[in-house]
Amino acid sequence: MSERLISVEEALERMLDGIRALPHESVGVDEAVGRVLAEPLAARVTLPPWDNSAMDGFAVQSTDVAAAAPDRPVRLRVVGEVAAGHEPSATVGPGTAMRILTGAMLPEGADTVVPVEETDAAEGVAALPETVAVLAPAARGHHVRRAGSDFHAGAELLAPGLRISPQALALVVAGGHGALAVHRRPRVAVLATGDELTAPGQPLPPGHIHDSNSPGLAAQARAYGAEVRRLGVARDTLPAVEAALRAAIAWADVVVCSGGVSVGARDVVRAAFERVGRVDLWRVAVQPGKPLAFGRAAAEDGREVLLFGLPGNPVSSFVTFEIFVRPVLRMLAGDRAPTARSVVRARLAEAVTKGPGRRAFLRVILGADPDHPGEWIAHLAGAQGSHVLSALALADGLAVVAENVDGLAAGAHVEVWQLRPMEGA
Ligand code: AMP
Ligand code: MG
Repeated sequence: MSERLISVEEALERMLDGIRALPHESVGVDEAVGRVLAEPLAARVTLPPWDNSAMDGFAVQSTDVAAAAPDRPVRLRVVGEVAAGHEPSATVGPGTAMRILTGAMLPEGADTVVPVEETDAAEGVAALPETVAVLAPAARGHHVRRAGSDFHAGAELLAPGLRISPQALALVVAGGHGALAVHRRPRVAVLATGDELTAPGQPLPPGHIHDSNSPGLAAQARAYGAEVRRLGVARDTLPAVEAALRAAIAWADVVVCSGGVSVGARDVVRAAFERVGRVDLWRVAVQPGKPLAFGRAAAEDGREVLLFGLPGNPVSSFVTFEIFVRPVLRMLAGDRAPTARSVVRARLAEAVTKGPGRRAFLRVILGADPDHPGEWIAHLAGAQGSHVLSALALADGLAVVAENVDGLAAGAHVEVWQLRPMEGA
């Protein structure tokens, strides 16, 4: 393979090329948040279904109360009460009022609602008065929520490609749906490679470290909506990695391997990719994470399986997952904005250096800039070596430094990719 490093954009473009969203499935409303809508969703009902009251008060005819004032109260006869969930039992004519509670249907004849605070009636739980004095004028339609003022039956509520948020879910349910069509979750198999790796929590033989990549990458994949299987550790031999890959391909849409992808004597992952499929690209102009490999394989049932060979250094595997694997998962899940991210502009608190020719992703902590109110400042989260997990764990963002510079001065502006807060993910 050539020495040329592939740019981040070109690599991403080639990875996303030809990816089609996974098939549809139906999920109930309690499983829907985080899934991506597969079909346009139209309202089955109108909301509000009928004119209703926005306040606790009295439904009246506006012409009766147009001139009401504290010193010129208008006294009306109370013909009944209507609460949310009930139908009005009477109509409202001239000189009358009906006590009405928030969300209740507006009775026929009434065209406005006078809040209880603008009457002489007692607030809160109180017996129905025989009459009520209105102490303030109320224009026609005041405090009335019109039928269809949110949406009408048949209107498109949400478009395909939208990731369902809690608030979008509430809209879906209000629109009359109890289930919705979403794309299947991407299946991600996570495989570590390395003779030196020991499973989490196990005692370490001489020369070993714990396999921290597998649980970390699995958690990243899960946080981005994937169904994940962790396949443990394969030894650094071609047959071991090949066998693990074949097992992964039988199930997964995406295989995420870490380690063994550089130029060392035991870096067998690329050769294993060639055995089970092909390598589409290797070595990207990114720091950390240069020796990244990407390929494709065909499963026995014909599915195309995407193969990621991420570098073994823990910061490299995390960062390259963020840059490359995440958009691929989103594309598979049908997300209409697969490369969208939350980015802020920040000033660097200190000077930074980097190698030329590669785009750097520095681990930074964001804070309020004391010298520039309303702006962000980015402090390095610690040492920037690709093995330094302690700085990665503290970082809440990745500051992006362009390929064509070998450093930036303190005070320079950078884009910072905000790392997803894992609140309960
Ligand atoms: P490699 O890419 O296999 O050359 O590994 C590069 C560095 O990352 C080495 O120091 C490995 O020990 C380390 N490494 C590889 N895989 C893992 C893993 N799963 N967990 C933690 N460190 C790893
Ligand atoms: Mg290795």
